[in-house]
Amino acid sequence: MEVTKKPIRKFAIIGGGTAGWIAAATLGNIFRHTEVEIELIESEEIGVIGVGEATIPPLLMILESLGIDLVDFIKHTQASFKLGIQFEDWHTIGESYFHPFGNLGRPIDGHDFFQCWMKMQAEGDNTPLMAHSPESVLAARDKFFVPFEAKGTPLASTQYALHLDAGLAGQYLRKFAEQAGVNRTEGLVEAVNNAENGDIKSVTLKSGEQIEADFFIDCTGFRGLLIEQNLNTGYQDWSEYLPCNRAVTVLTESSGTTKPYTVAKAREAGWTWRIPLQHRTGNGYVFCDKYCSDEQAINTLLQAVDGKIIGEPRVIPFTTGIRNKAWNRNCLALGLAQGFLEPLESTAIHLVSKTLALFVRMFPTREYNDTLTDEFNRRVFADYAEIRDFLVLHYCTTAREDTPFWRWCKEMNIPDSLAQKLQFFKAQGGLIPGAEELFQPTSWYAVLNGMQVYPTSYNATVDALDVEKLKHSLDSGRQAIEACAQKQPSHDEFIQRFCAASPM
Ligand code: FAD
Repeated sequence: MEVTKKPIRKFAIIGGGTAGWIAAATLGNIFRHTEVEIELIESEEIGVIGVGEATIPPLLMILESLGIDLVDFIKHTQASFKLGIQFEDWHTIGESYFHPFGNLGRPIDGHDFFQCWMKMQAEGDNTPLMAHSPESVLAARDKFFVPFEAKGTPLASTQYALHLDAGLAGQYLRKFAEQAGVNRTEGLVEAVNNAENGDIKSVTLKSGEQIEADFFIDCTGFRGLLIEQNLNTGYQDWSEYLPCNRAVTVLTESSGTTKPYTVAKAREAGWTWRIPLQHRTGNGYVFCDKYCSDEQAINTLLQAVDGKIIGEPRVIPFTTGIRNKAWNRNCLALGLAQGFLEPLESTAIHLVSKTLALFVRMFPTREYNDTLTDEFNRRVFADYAEIRDFLVLHYCTTAREDTPFWRWCKEMNIPDSLAQKLQFFKAQGGLIPGAEELFQPTSWYAVLNGMQVYPTSYNATVDALDVEKLKHSLDSGRQAIEACAQKQPSHDEFIQRFCAASPM
C-alpha cells in the first residue's frame, strides 16, 4: 500500500458565515493535534447573510460528533425545539398538514406501516395518519418530551431539531473552532491568484497581505468568490422547478406560546415562515418576483407577523440551483457558494455538513484526482436533486387556482425523477428509499397525504393480515402515543426547566 506522499499542509477557508464556521469546526476538530494549519478569512465589511434558523435532526449528530454539549449549545444560541413543519393553505386555503420528523407508526408483523394504515382506511377507518406520529401529536399540543425519560415508551424514537439564532450559532462555532486551533484573519479578499496549472495558489487581502494554502474552501456565500469568480465553474439554474427567487425577512419580539415547530404558510406568490426562538421570532416571505413586488411582499409579511417588529425588513435575492461542480480543482464550495434550494424544508445547513462529511470520507492529498472529484460531485448533485424533488412536491400538488403563482404551480413541469416517483406511489402507495437519501418514505407520505395525493391501491400482502387484529394494533399504538404525550411538559415549560438561555 502506498503511503500518502503529499498530505495537505494548509487549508484556507474564505468566509465566516455558518458554512465557514461549520467547516472550521469540523476540520479544526479533526486536525486538533496535528501540524495541519487551518486559517479562516472573513470580512466584517461584507458581513454574513444572517438567516438560516430552522434546522433538521442531523444537526444534533454533527454537534455530537464535535463533542459539543447540546444543552450548552441550546442555551447559547437561544434555541427552541422543532418537531416538524406545519404547512398551512398549501393544498387549499383553510387546510393544513404536518410534516413530522421521525417515523409514522411501526411495521406490523413485518408489513410496512403505511400499507397497513391504507388497508384500514379502505376498510372504512378514518383515523388520520398523523395520529400515529409522536412528533405530530406532541406538536398539536405545544408539548415537548423529556428525552431521557422516553426510553421504552412510544416517544423513544421521537426526532427533533432546533430553531436557533444563526448569528449566535456562528459565534459559538467560531469559539469552538478557535479553541481547536483554527486561526481567524479579518480581511477583505480582493484578489484570488492562480498557479501555472490553474489551481488556486493564494488570496490577496485589501491590506496587501497574501495568504497561500494547499486547499481552499469557498464559503463566501452567493458571490462564490473562488469557485465562480475565479474558477468559472458555472451554475445550474433550477428556477423552472423552484421559481421563488427572493425573500423578505423581519424579526419580531416573542409573543404567546413558543411553538415546537416551524410554520410555513402559503401566500399569494410563495410562502411565509415563522421560526420561534427563546428571545424572538424570525419571520420571512419567500416569493417569486414575477408575481409579487418587494413592496407587496413587505406589506404581506408585516401584516402576517405577531409581536413588535425589531429592526427593518430586509430583502434577499437568490437563484435556486447548484454549482456545476461543488469541488473544482483545489477548491471546495460550501453553503450558499455551492448552491441553494430555497428554505422550505430547512436543508441548507444540513447540506453544508453532509458535504463536509463526504469530503472527509474522500479526503484528498495535494494531488487530488478527477476520479475522486467526479464521484464527489456526482454525490453532491444527487443530494441536491433529491431535495429539489421533495420541495417541488409541495408546490406541484396544490389544488389552488386563486392567484397566478398557484395556477402556475398547479400546471408546472416537474423533473422526470419526481414524475417517476409519483407514478410509482400512485400505483400502490409504495416508496423505496434511495441510498443515503435525506427524506425517507415517511416524509414523502406526510406531504403526499397532506397534499391529498392518494394511491389507487395498497400492497396486496397486507390482505393476509386479520382486519380485527390490524385495527387493534393501530388503535393501541395510537392510544399509547396519545397517553404518553399527555404526560409531557409544554414546550415552554421544558425550555425553562432544562435549557433556558444564558448570555454568551
Ligand atoms: P454567508 O452567511 O453569506 O457568509 C459569507 C461569508 O463570506 C461572510 O463571512 C462574508 O464576510 C465572507 N465573504 C464574502 N466575500 C468575502 C471577501 N471578498 N473577503 C472576505 N470574506 C468574504 N438554511 C437552513 O438550514 N435553514 C433555514 O431555515 C434557512 N433559511 C434561509 C432563508 C433564506 C431567505 C436564505 C437566503 C437562506 C436560508 N438558509 C437556511 C441558508 C443559510 O442561510 C445558509 O446556508 C447559511 O447561512 C450559510 O451561509 P454561508 O455561510 O454560505 O454564507
